[in-house]
Amino acid sequence: MIAREGLGAMARAYTTSFLAHRLWQQALNWIFPSNDEPCAVCSRPIPPHMAQKRAGERGAMQRLCAFCQQNLALVPVRAQLTTLRAGKRRIRVASALVYDHFVRTLIRAFKYDGVVEIAPFFVSALCATRPARLQADIVVPVPTAPDRLRMRGYDHVLLVARAFATAEGLPCALGLARLGTSGHTRSQTAKDRDRRLSELAGQFVSIRPDAVRGRRVLLVDDVMTTGATLATCAAALYEAGAGAVDAAVIARVE
Ligand SMILES: [Zn+2]
Repeated sequence: MIAREGLGAMARAYTTSFLAHRLWQQALNWIFPSNDEPCAVCSRPIPPHMAQKRAGERGAMQRLCAFCQQNLALVPVRAQLTTLRAGKRRIRVASALVYDHFVRTLIRAFKYDGVVEIAPFFVSALCATRPARLQADIVVPVPTAPDRLRMRGYDHVLLVARAFATAEGLPCALGLARLGTSGHTRSQTAKDRDRRLSELAGQFVSIRPDAVRGRRVLLVDDVMTTGATLATCAAALYEAGAGAVDAAVIARVE
């Protein structure tokens, strides 16, 4: 039996410098209270009366303007299922949200701008994909490239995967590591899939074969574009002895 706490605690989702920066910001906000912090998602200035209301909010709501708060409450969860080729096997991928302009903006704020408060929103969206996916024994996050982790200060996928696993009552293990740097992955289209597959070949390695051997693994990632990343990760997990691999992603680019 895998100790849930033991595996979950193995990796830290934040770098020390990110946490130090956050503490410093909180200290500054306490010493010099300011109401003019713009919305973390759309950068609109927050009118003073709204800022006052916002101070009473918790989590993501505290950093969002009224417009984005309203949009967030209206984002529909549309669990969709697709299948992917992963070497000689196939995997099922359940996606939670439609990748529209607002969802893309939310994911970018979460991934690049340190708006980690949005994580619980993505976790509940992933939980809502349950009817569309198979049962799993263990959750494994798609690992973030070490250079990206250093640059951003936190691992956004690990944050979501860990909270999602807890919500589902499953263990979460860092079953994979990513070697090398992330490279240029900005523009991906379906026809780039074969090129992406060859770029990614050998970049993901299993680091916990004992945790995945014979188990049904659920990979978790933020956005699926060509599916090459998920396919490469799944192939590495199968090679490590995983019994079955499926995936859940926040959104899928159509
Ligand atoms: Zn906003």
